[in-house]
Amino acid sequence: MQTAEIKRRWLQFFESRGHTVVPSASLISDDPTLMFNVAGMVPFIPYLTGREPAPFNRATSVQKCVRTNDIDEVGKTTRHGTFFQMNGNFSFGDYFKAEAIEFAWALLTTPQADGGLGFDPDRLWATVYHDDDEAFGLWQSIAGLPESRIQRRGKADNYWHTGQAGPGGPCSEIYYDRGPGYGSEGGPEADEDRYIEIWNLVFMQYQLENVRSKVDFDVVAELPKKNIDTGMGLERVAFLLQDVENMYEIDEVFPVIEAASKLSGRTYGANHEDDVRLRVVADHVRSALMLISDGVTPGNEARGYILRRLIRRAVRAMRLLGVEEPAMPSLLTASRGAMQSSYPEVGSDFDRISRIAYAEEEAFLRTLVSGTALLNQAVAGVRGGSNTLSGDKAFALHDTFGFPIDLTLEMAAEQGVSVDEQGFRTLMAEQRDRAKADARAKKTGGVSDTSAYRELRDIGETPFVGYESLSQDSKIR
Ligand code: ATP
Ligand code: MG
Ligand code: MG
Ligand code: MG
Repeated sequence: MQTAEIKRRWLQFFESRGHTVVPSASLISDDPTLMFNVAGMVPFIPYLTGREPAPFNRATSVQKCVRTNDIDEVGKTTRHGTFFQMNGNFSFGDYFKAEAIEFAWALLTTPQADGGLGFDPDRLWATVYHDDDEAFGLWQSIAGLPESRIQRRGKADNYWHTGQAGPGGPCSEIYYDRGPGYGSEGGPEADEDRYIEIWNLVFMQYQLENVRSKVDFDVVAELPKKNIDTGMGLERVAFLLQDVENMYEIDEVFPVIEAASKLSGRTYGANHEDDVRLRVVADHVRSALMLISDGVTPGNEARGYILRRLIRRAVRAMRLLGVEEPAMPSLLTASRGAMQSSYPEVGSDFDRISRIAYAEEEAFLRTLVSGTALLNQAVAGVRGGSNTLSGDKAFALHDTFGFPIDLTLEMAAEQGVSVDEQGFRTLMAEQRDRAKADARAKKTGGVSDTSAYRELRDIGETPFVGYESLSQDSKIR
């Protein structure tokens, strides 16, 4: 089933059950604490927290999302994209747990011939928060799930809150078992590669106070108006229903892998390392297309820096696949072809989008050329002597020319020279500390270092109020 068809069925299912269809908001979040929309619920936060009255009791959407904290997973797991679409259904003080579970189960297991998604019910599992007996019971009574396929998990996995005092509550997640060929038995608790998380149901049930961390807070009252917030990964469902191995092989992404494979002459599926690179390229090019379409331009700060890193990582991956010429024209065109039926604006605005992407690729290729000359010089200086490039040199290449460390490592190795990576990392850490001190100084009105480049090292952190705390460092290398 095509991705667009899954989306269509989703919206139709919830619309026919009284939900207002709300178009996706831009990737650029309205919420000043967020760099991007990271979940379907983000545009609904004012209604979910009660800050504003909801104009409807029920809503549904397919929201464009970007999660930079997943960047290191891209291409390596089967299921993490930097860009992805989250299908959501929401209840604002209207229906609660029973209906949320009933809807999810019906849509997933109704045969495709009857308008559903046609998942085999015997392969579905659910998790619930450890003391949520109500949800546990509903999975048994509504879905007929045996106890053995309902797992109880703790706060780290199955509790949602915003990170501040306010609404919160347990979640319940739905997983699909890909079968013994994909990992060990034992349900999602044991193996999230075999058991793929497809849908998260959040039950906003309590008022929380004194939120000290993801897992440490006080539950002070039952909310008078309880909400439902759910998120289903469109690409994950698509890959499971399209009978492919991962989300990069679905109809909306795979054409970029094909284009990259054609440019590089590397066959997809022949070599694990190449495959990871091809998937990274496909993911990042699509994310770049969607981000530029929503008005982000490459730059040295915040969103623009993320976009810059995505494009550079894609170009870098192409280089490692043996392509040194500009690849964007062919890759971006392939991505447009795959995305424009769902997002016509990437077609109509393609001249502007492509100009921005191609210029960024060309600039980075120039960086590579100038950096390469310097790197070669530095390598020549130590060859036959220590045969080790100092951390200082590697740092200077990175700091001044934006030359990624893995590129330095690889190109030095090609010439039989190693790099003091530890020294490099120490200098990076020192710089990060300086930037933090600067940021603090700035906040308190002190003088700050004006080097934009330096501050960028800190941008990885994307504050998050969605399903889980994404506050871990989301380094983009
Ligand atoms: P995972 O544990 O696999 O990283 P998650 O628990 O972080 O997923 P949620 O925050 O619960 O995900 O988001 C709701 C749904 O969105 C998930 O059940 C999944 O189907 C989908 N999803 C989340 N992150 C991604 C991603 N990076 N790429 C594609 N789909 C995603
Ligand atoms: Mg995650
Ligand atoms: Mg999860
Ligand atoms: Mg989840």
